[in-house]
Amino acid sequence: MTAIDIGIPGLRHALDAPSVEGRPDTPYLLDKFGRVARDLRVSITEKCSLRCTYCMPEEGLPPIPAEELLTADELVRVVTLAVQQLGVREVRFTGGEPLMRRDLEDIIAGCSKNLPGIPLAMTSNAVGLEHRIAGLVEAGLTRVNISLDSIDRAGFAALTRRDRLPSVMAGIRAARDAGLAPIKINAVLMRPTLAGAVDLLQWCLDERCELRFIEEMPLDADHEWARANMVTAQDLLDVLGARFELTEVGRDDPSAPAEEWLVNGGPARVGIIATVTRSFCSDCDRTRLTADGRIRSCLFSDHEVDLRTPLRRGATDADLAQLWRAAMWNKWAGNGIDAPDFEPPARSMGAIGG
Ligand code: SAM
Ligand code: SF4
Repeated sequence: MTAIDIGIPGLRHALDAPSVEGRPDTPYLLDKFGRVARDLRVSITEKCSLRCTYCMPEEGLPPIPAEELLTADELVRVVTLAVQQLGVREVRFTGGEPLMRRDLEDIIAGCSKNLPGIPLAMTSNAVGLEHRIAGLVEAGLTRVNISLDSIDRAGFAALTRRDRLPSVMAGIRAARDAGLAPIKINAVLMRPTLAGAVDLLQWCLDERCELRFIEEMPLDADHEWARANMVTAQDLLDVLGARFELTEVGRDDPSAPAEEWLVNGGPARVGIIATVTRSFCSDCDRTRLTADGRIRSCLFSDHEVDLRTPLRRGATDADLAQLWRAAMWNKWAGNGIDAPDFEPPARSMGAIGG
């Protein structure tokens, strides 16, 4: 495949562009299995204020050199073209920890100005969020998902290697009070925090937050994930079911990753995202952009397509859109976790953007 084949004459990088053989002529991010990506996850930094054991190494991720990070203006341009040319309908900023970027408000304001009506969300650990929530909402942030795995201060500190639970709780309440309710809380449970799932769910019910548990995936930087040790959806249902009456309601929308249960007859619900034991790859509608400007079609695939180099060499929006389409056309059928030769991807979750 040459640059000319995909309509980008003169750009050396595009010699590596993935094949688009057999791809129908559609503007959308279609793949060979008929899925269309509408949900864009944008990682904006590899830096983080926490060090969750299932995600980051103790010393943090190797820093991305400043010149390799997409700037606020570049991010706004790329997100805008994803919506306007590729049919993306929802954008979520993630990382690392998005709050580690001082220009997060500028990124959101630029996207909001260009893309009225498009949901602009963030996944955050909420450390320090209480001090920035007003500015973020004013910039155009419409939703926030916050990660909280334990409401026991010592358990939280052991899991995240940082004693920041009070700041996280303050951030959750500030986001809710700033009008972003309902706040979705993401929790990845490990064996030591499993018993605390009941208290975490009760806390979320009391604080009017929607809790979703996420099965731990083999995306930790320390490569310590083991299927035998992970907390499964069934483990969680057993623990929660001993305290709460759970009624299965399934998924509202087939591409929503969380299966849901009514708690004590409803209306409150709890969700479980069972990526490992009940994989939902056939309904996946995600496309990802890494902080250093690479398109990633799947969390688990190391095949990435560089957008930053062509962008900085003068590629047009149409050129970049075509590279993005080619990247997604080659998306894998599934995450491959169950294959006997499964190898975790080179980048960990914090380096891809969850
Ligand atoms: N720092 C922000 C946060 O924690 O919400 C955003 C980035 S973090 C990588 C995004 C999500 O990925 C979080 O909800 C986190 O719990 C989840 N995550 C990280 N490592 C994971 C793993 N190995 N398996 C499953 N989820 C993981
Ligand atoms: Fe940081 Fe989020 Fe990874 Fe925890 S899950 S280490 S908060 S990026």
